[in-house]
Amino acid sequence: MKPLNSLLAATGTTIFTVMSALAAEHGAINLGQGFPDEEGPEAVVRAAAEALLDGRNQYPPLTGVPELRRAVAEANRRFWGIAVDPDSEVVVTSGATEAITASLMALLDPGDEVVLIEPLYDTYLPVVRMLGAVPRLVRLEPPRWDLPRADLAAAFGQRTKALLLNTPHNPTAKVFTTAELAFLADLLARHDAYAVCDEVYEHITFDGWRHIPLMSLPGMRERCVRIGSAGKTFSLTGWKVGYVTAPAPLARSIAKAHQLLTFTTPPNLQRAVAVGLGLPDAYFAGLAEGLAAKRDRLARGLAAIGFEVLEARGSYFVTADIRPLGMARDDAAFCRWLTETAKVTAIPVSAFYADPATAPRHLVRFAFCKRDATIDEALRRLATAFAERRSEAASEALTGRAARA
Ligand code: GLN
Repeated sequence: MKPLNSLLAATGTTIFTVMSALAAEHGAINLGQGFPDEEGPEAVVRAAAEALLDGRNQYPPLTGVPELRRAVAEANRRFWGIAVDPDSEVVVTSGATEAITASLMALLDPGDEVVLIEPLYDTYLPVVRMLGAVPRLVRLEPPRWDLPRADLAAAFGQRTKALLLNTPHNPTAKVFTTAELAFLADLLARHDAYAVCDEVYEHITFDGWRHIPLMSLPGMRERCVRIGSAGKTFSLTGWKVGYVTAPAPLARSIAKAHQLLTFTTPPNLQRAVAVGLGLPDAYFAGLAEGLAAKRDRLARGLAAIGFEVLEARGSYFVTADIRPLGMARDDAAFCRWLTETAKVTAIPVSAFYADPATAPRHLVRFAFCKRDATIDEALRRLATAFAERRSEAASEALTGRAARA
């Protein structure tokens, strides 16, 4: 038989599914795939349940129900000072995942170049390649993940159509600064390029770090697509409701891509997300505060066990250097060992690189969007596993000495 699509054949199953399956197989606590283990706000869940029962269950409008488009526009104004027309500049999608693909479809022709920043979220590269566009990869370097300005300047050129930017950043938990965004804005303006901005963690920043949408910088309003996710903002990752804010000509093209991909998104979930975006400021502040406390809880515990924990300024994730633990394993083997032996699952950071062989192999990502009891139990399991390993290593050393004596 003739071969199937070669790009999909070359795309593996996502690391999140692979590690979640391994966690289930070994009864491990899953700090791999980023999903909370608590329900989102009751008012939002209840709104979805009620909206199922009041007779609006047929196809909603292509670009989203008016309530949610208005709520997205209002949230842009309220949180980021961006004025948005709900009728021509908002498209509701089935998750940020669809929004990213639809935005890339809307922008790219075969041969167009796209600047991508590694480590990167797993859907970006395969979608860029499927559209026949050419990825230009630039790397952030651990442990500080500073913007590689010279590399970025070199990656932009005449054929650059777009930059794909994720801030707050998964998996590094970096929050791009105004100065870094201004540098990118200058490159975009000089090369007449667009930016697809994956801002799913827009409300999840810590320690006074604040998310800044690239779209809010001078000259960027007409060049940026801004993507949010109800999954992240309301701790309801299974809902898959995303929202795109874009200048009208771009929004029209994104709506056409959405028409080909899913056409619409479940109307009751859309209406409930509109309720969520209207929650008082205290909800959004509480989300970030609650997650900051969880980050601290997990980071403190990991450091006590011997991990070198990197700074985490936003998102659901903290990354940790495994080298101080003294195990001769790369990140992928370490995560497998951790799942099978300690019964705790993390994600190898090399999975966020186009070529894991040349990626850093000493970093693993833990999700802290979990109940305190889950975090504590994971830490207890890790502490036990590493204590056992140390005592095994010590007795091996002793036996070795005895044998030599
Ligand atoms: N975004 C989530 C993460 O980074 C996973 C989403 C997925 O499983 N596709 O962990």
